[in-house]
Formats: sequence, structure tokens, C-alpha cells
Amino acid sequence: MRRTVLPLPGASLIRYNPSMDARFGMALLRWYQEHARELPWRKTTDPYAIWVSEVMLQQTRVGTVIPYYQRWMARLPSIQALAQANRERILRLWEGLGYYQRAHNLHRAARILVEKYAGEFPHSAQKLQDLPGIGPYIAAAICAIAFNQDIIAVDGNLRRVFSRLLDLNVDPRSPDAQERTMQDATRGLPSGQGSAYSQALMDLGSMICTPRQPGCDRCPVSGFCLAFARGTQADRPARDKSPGTPHHTVTAGVLQRDGRVLIARRPESGLLGGLWEFPGGKRNRDESLEACLQRELMEEIGIPIDVGEAITVVEHAYTHFRVTVHAFSVSSGVRSPKALEHTELRWVDITQLSAFPMGKVDREISRVLVERRADSSA
Ligand code: SF4
Repeated sequence: MRRTVLPLPGASLIRYNPSMDARFGMALLRWYQEHARELPWRKTTDPYAIWVSEVMLQQTRVGTVIPYYQRWMARLPSIQALAQANRERILRLWEGLGYYQRAHNLHRAARILVEKYAGEFPHSAQKLQDLPGIGPYIAAAICAIAFNQDIIAVDGNLRRVFSRLLDLNVDPRSPDAQERTMQDATRGLPSGQGSAYSQALMDLGSMICTPRQPGCDRCPVSGFCLAFARGTQADRPARDKSPGTPHHTVTAGVLQRDGRVLIARRPESGLLGGLWEFPGGKRNRDESLEACLQRELMEEIGIPIDVGEAITVVEHAYTHFRVTVHAFSVSSGVRSPKALEHTELRWVDITQLSAFPMGKVDREISRVLVERRADSSA
């Protein structure tokens, strides 16, 4: 079994935990045998299933992921099925999970794996990282969980746990702290137990050493924990001060013609890549909502518009910012809008909107439109 051997620290500013060795891993694994969470992706060592679950779990809670994972695996059970699926079907299966680049990257990587590796996953974290959307964490997680390699997958969960185990007084994302985390996590790994060890650490972080109020009184590794010994758990992880989350006011225009509405497909790269939306955009400082919508639709679809009644207001939080989206009914004397910033425009009957993959905000606007149509025809 290959084992990643890392040098012990020299003149590091951060003291390493002298009690961290394979006894730590053995205590953790004993606890894991009894308390492991039952998760659908734990019933297999198929690297495809592990990969899909790890990609879905990025930035997303386990409870949210489970139904998506089950639906995805039922419809696209193999890497070949994913490689052959069309983009629309994939985005529809992903809709609501957010971070849509993840779905595009899964699709691209599946095609490469089928074409270049005959549908087999390389057993090398380095080679896996050449594939779209697979970074160091996912590559290590696949190698550890599916192939039982002695390798450490470091994500935010593991950084938090080790910031306490090592009582790190610096931000766990700093290079020094990451190096210390990798070194001590590797020292604690009992040889040949990479799969169980990485999953046990995930469960420890989710069930015991949680972000707030860690359950030290039931922790299987409290005897190895420097923060516990020093009573500093509440101060770990140490954080650099970050500014508050920015907020943007956004407008969206629902252009209607002959009972149909205009929707636009976003470019594949970037936020909500490849999804459909109602055109519109961010309000500039001191701009009215009406002026914002007129400017945005001129920039995006090249036509002058009149702003009509308000349809709905939607609040939504993305990872790095929040938005308040004001959706209005709009009209125009010009009949030929053009896709100037989107890849495609389409006129769609309101009852057909559910067939088009959308982000949460535009799905909510669609829902209100469908509801209003139903009310008006009742
Ligand atoms: Fe986390 Fe407490 Fe366990 Fe330390 S003793 S690893 S702080 S739960």
C-alpha cells in the first residue's frame, strides 16, 4: 500500500501535536466502526459513485445531496451513461443544487474518461487532477475512498477538526496551517486504512467536532486534542477578519408575446453556467429599478422596453454575495431581440418553463408566472 510520507516540521511557528500517531487513527476507527453514518454512497467502492457524491457534496449539505444523488445514479448509473447524456438532461438532474459548473465539469470529465481511459478511473491523484473539475480534494477523496490509498483529502471540514486537534492559532487556510494539517493527518493514519480513515474524519467533523459547540464530551479522540487540553476549542478555528457579504439589487424582465415569454441561456462558463433565465442585471448606484431594467435589456437583448407591473421580488444568497431580484413585466415595440450576452434566446409558453433548467431565482419567477396564469384562467 502506497503511503504519502511527509517530513516532520523543522523550525515551524506552529507546534506539532506530539501525541499524533497511528494510535489516534486506531481510536478514530474504533469509533467509526460503531457510529459511521449510513449514506447511500457508502454502499459502494465504485469510483464513479464516489466521484459524483463528492462533487455534489462540495458546498452542499448531506441531507440536500442524498435525493439528488439517488436520482442521478438511477438515471445515469455509469460513467458511460453520463458521457452519452445530453446537457439539458444533466442540468435538469442538477437543478437546485447550485454551482452548475460542477455539472458541466462532470459531463466533460466523463467524456474524457471514456475516450482516453476506456471508462476507467486512473488510480493516480495526479492524473485525476488533469480532469475538469477535479482538484486536490476530490482526487484524494476518490483515491482514498474508492481505492483505499493512504492519502489525505483536505477540505474545510478536515481543516476545522485539525485546527482544534493541533490548537492552531492561525487561519487554517494559511499555507503553514495547511502544511501542518497534512503532516499530522498523515501521521495519524494507520497504514492500509486510507478509506475508513478519511470517512471517519468526515464523520467526526460532521457529528462531533462540528463548527459550533463541538461535542468534546463524546469525542473519541479528545485524548489527542490540544485545544481540548487547553480549553481553547471555542477559539478554533482562528479566522482572519473578513468583510461582510456584499448585497446587490438586481432586475429581471419578463417580456411576453402571443402568450409566450422570452428566456435566455447563460454562457457555460461562470455563475449558473448554461442555465436559462429572464434577462436583466445588477442595478448601478443611484439608478432606478426601471432605468436599470431598460439599460440591462438594451445591453443583453438589444431592444428598448417599457417597464410594466411588478411580478415578484426574490431574495437569494450565493456563497459570496446576496441578491434582491425585482421581476417586472416588460413590453417592446421591437419584435426581434438578439442574444448579445447570452448563447441563445427562446420564446416559451409559460406552461413549458419547467422543462428548462434554471437557478433558484428564475425558477421562483417562473413559479409565480405559472400561478398567475392558472389564476387568470380559473
Ligand atoms: Fe473537536 Fe472537542 Fe474532539 Fe477536540 S475534543 S477534536 S475540539 S470534538
